[in-house]
Amino acid sequence: SNSNLDDFEKLAVLGRGNGGTVYKVRHRPTRAIYALKVLKFGEDTERVQQQALREVEILKRVDSGFIVMCHGVFENGFADTDGGGEVCYFMEYMEGGSLHNLLQKHHRLSEDAISSIARSVLQGLNYLHTMQIVHRDIKPSNLLINSKGETKIADFGVSGVVAGTAKELYGSCMGTCAYMSPERIDPERWDGIYSDGCAGDVWSLGLVVMECCIGHFPLINPGEKRDWVTLMCAISFEETREMPETASAELRSFVRRCLHRNWRSRGTVKELLRHPFVTKFQNSAEKQLHYYVSCS
Ligand code: ADP
Ligand code: MG
Repeated sequence: SNSNLDDFEKLAVLGRGNGGTVYKVRHRPTRAIYALKVLKFGEDTERVQQQALREVEILKRVDSGFIVMCHGVFENGFADTDGGGEVCYFMEYMEGGSLHNLLQKHHRLSEDAISSIARSVLQGLNYLHTMQIVHRDIKPSNLLINSKGETKIADFGVSGVVAGTAKELYGSCMGTCAYMSPERIDPERWDGIYSDGCAGDVWSLGLVVMECCIGHFPLINPGEKRDWVTLMCAISFEETREMPETASAELRSFVRRCLHRNWRSRGTVKELLRHPFVTKFQNSAEKQLHYYVSCS
C-alpha cells in the first residue's frame, strides 16, 4: 500500500515483549484499526536485527486464516526520531487479545473452547510446516483471538526454516524455554538432531492445551518456585504430569499424544487434526470461545 506511517495514530499499547512493542493504531484516512508491531534494534546485536527481519520475511510469505495477517511493512519507520534501526509491520487487530490474557481473566476454559483453539493451532501449524516453517514459540501469549472467536498464530520472532542439520536446530534455542520440547533442550539424548523441529511445535501445543484445562502452566504447580535449570531438568527427566480425572477421555488422550517425551512417538499434526478431541465439537466450539471473548 501507499500508506505513510504518519497516517497511523497510536491508541494504546497492546503488548510489550523481548521482540518489541505492539500498539493498537488507527489508520486516519480510513479509520480502520490495526495492530502495529515495532521491532527496535538500536544498540542491539546483529542477531536481534536478523531475527526481526526473519519475522517480517515469514509474515510476508504466509497467507492463512489461521495465522495473523500482515498488511504492510515499514523498514526503518521511525528511525529518524531516536537513531536506532527499526522495522515495523501492521497486522489485523485481534480484539480478544491473546490466550494468555484470556486465561488471566477466566482461569480455565471449557473443553469445547479448548478444542476450538487446538483445531485452529493445528491447522495453522499444518500450513506452516507445509511451507517448511517451524514456529518454535507456541505459547498462550502468541495465540491471538478475534471477536468472532477465531484463534490465530502470531509472533514469528524465533521461527525458522525446517532444520536440515544439527547445527541449525542447536543454534535456534532462543525465546521462552518453558514450552520447549525435550529434544530441543537435549538433542543428543532424544536423537533430536534428526528431528526437523515440527514435533517441537506439537509438544508446545500440548502444554498450552493442558494449561487451558488445569488453569496454570503444567510443569510448575501454583505457588511452587522453579528456576530455569530445574525447569529444564523437569522437561527432560520428569514424568509428564497427568491430566486430571475430571477431563474427558478424549482431552486426556490428546494431551498424552502431544506430550510424548520421545518426539518419534509423539502425535503428528496431521494425525492430531483427526483426533476425537479436535473433531468432536466442530460447530459449537467457536461460539463458546466467542462467549469468553465477549464477556471480557
Ligand atoms: P513479542 O515478540 O514481544 O512477544 P508479540 O507479537 O507476541 O510480541 O505481541 C506481544 C503481545 O501484544 C501479544 O501477547 C498480544 O497480547 C499483543 N498483540 C500482538 N499482536 C496483536 C494483534 N494483532 N492484535 C491484538 N493484540 C496483539
Ligand atoms: Mg510473543
